[in-house]
Amino acid sequence: MQGLCASGALSPTTWDLTVEGETRPERRRRLAFGVAVCDACPVKEQCATYARACPEISGLWGGLVFAAAGDEEIWDVIA
Ligand code: SF4
Repeated sequence: MQGLCASGALSPTTWDLTVEGETRPERRRRLAFGVAVCDACPVKEQCATYARACPEISGLWGGLVFAAAGDEEIWDVIA
């Protein structure tokens, strides 16, 4: 079974923390959409478990945002 992000139907940047040229409202909407896709993904729990075990990981995984602790901008955007 594969994740919905591997289907090729959506832009791979959907799950990125940042996209060049994107405004803050655009980022907020994109990440909210990514979380909604993850919520419908059949491997959501496995994906989140994998990401939690990888300290260097960033982006959206399993419907959760993984970012460096000092990345205040991303936490402000998604708050
Ligand atoms: S839960 Fe993981 S595998 Fe599924 S769409 Fe989200 S990032 Fe991709």
